[in-house]
Amino acid sequence: MNKNYDNQNIFAKILRSEIPCHKILENDHALAFSDINPQSPIHILIIPKKAYLNFYDFMENASIKEMEFLWKLVNDVIKLNKISKKGFRIISNSGDDGNQDVPHFHVHVLGGKNLGRMMI
Ligand code: 5GP
Repeated sequence: MNKNYDNQNIFAKILRSEIPCHKILENDHALAFSDINPQSPIHILIIPKKAYLNFYDFMENASIKEMEFLWKLVNDVIKLNKISKKGFRIISNSGDDGNQDVPHFHVHVLGGKNLGRMMI
């Protein structure tokens, strides 16, 4: 585990079932659940079950199987919500400049409406 990983972060607590979540899907290595403060009609978070700080930590240190299962679950969420045709947005905030709030790697899937342009 990364020495900077804080195992008291909120997603670590969700993974240990210490606090509840609205589970959407899971597989052997990843969990998908609804964001508590949705920014669009569909706003789902996908997280690895093991402890990784952010995208970079995950891609540097996770196994190929964990990567495969995480990105497969992202796609399964897209399929389940039938948003492949209308479209969606995938975001992963990382670190201070990325304004990451929860220091456990997560992918946001947003959709269900036109999300506008993110940046000019
Ligand atoms: P970040 O800014 O780290 O990319 O996003 C963290 C996300 O986690 C936010 O969208 C926030 O609404 C969500 N979040 C924070 N606390 C909780 C929680 O206790 N449960 C759930 N389901 N989502 C949370």
